Amino acid sequence: MVSRRVSTKPVFLKKKNEICDYFGLGEAYRKSFIIRSSHKDVTMEQIQVMGVQGLPLIHAGDNIAAMICERMPVQDGDILCIASTIYSKAKGYTKTLASITPSGRAQRLAKLNGEDPRFVQAVLDASADIIMEHPFILSELSFGHIGVRAGVDQSNIEDGMVIFLPPDPMKAAGELQEEIRTLSGKDVGVIITDTCGRSFRRGQTGNAIGWSGFCAIRDFRGDTDLFGHVLKITEEAVVDEIAGFSNFVMGESNNGVPAVIFRNCQKWTGHDSLYFTNDEDITKRVLKKEMRHQEMAKNRID
Ligand code: GDP
Ligand code: MN
Ligand code: MN
Repeated sequence: MVSRRVSTKPVFLKKKNEICDYFGLGEAYRKSFIIRSSHKDVTMEQIQVMGVQGLPLIHAGDNIAAMICERMPVQDGDILCIASTIYSKAKGYTKTLASITPSGRAQRLAKLNGEDPRFVQAVLDASADIIMEHPFILSELSFGHIGVRAGVDQSNIEDGMVIFLPPDPMKAAGELQEEIRTLSGKDVGVIITDTCGRSFRRGQTGNAIGWSGFCAIRDFRGDTDLFGHVLKITEEAVVDEIAGFSNFVMGESNNGVPAVIFRNCQKWTGHDSLYFTNDEDITKRVLKKEMRHQEMAKNRID
């Protein structure tokens, strides 16, 4: 496999000059590249993506960091994506439906959406705020993530059980990173993922719900494009992009691959403000307004 690191300035600039020549770009663009050449962390090695094979069914008390390290030697700079499902099973963030008593609200929503009232109660318990009630519950969790049914799952666990998202996935990612450092001596970044629905498009993708070892967002604002325009808006949610691809490798059903390692990803700089604030989140505001309207309409009828 060809592996190449572009780390020295002359090679980097030569490469950029070649690109300028290729695209027929003039002096202004060469200058914009010179600004980018100050990004010392840019590498052009081939990214490797490896699913961790051979993990057993995870149970409460399992040490998933050790189980992963035993099966796949990690290297400095690797990014390890771990499905929230196995983290939660290992930490015991699960419940039997039989142990849950549904409230009046859970019973009403269960009837409205055709679901088990005990499952709906689990969703309500996991939610810090409900944004939409029908045709499914959409809720905000205390750590800022917004998810369908609060991310509570009934798949990849025994019948009659539910799995909750970790209550503090950022802390979880930090702890896993530390455990892996202790076990392997390697500095590995960690992303806790979950499969999530999304607005506007059909189909679920993997999202990052916790991360450690890098920031969530690569900030391109202030950078210049190929034509020398200064980017004013672009913030790339890198942790979600990596989580999305890891989800593709994991699969959704019986693949049995809950951990994926990315090697040779370039580093990035930016910030961690992945979640919109209430003021910024237009979709949330509109959905909550719609929910209030439905509530008022229902009260008029009742
Ligand atoms: P989520 O996206 O975090 O809700 O997790 P999924 O239920 O979609 O599972 C993601 C991947 O992990 C799939 O390949 C599952 O088959 C696998 N998986 C889930 N639980 C286990 C487990 O206990 N052991 C193993 N080896 N794989 C699991
Ligand atoms: Mn899930
Ligand atoms: Mn999934």
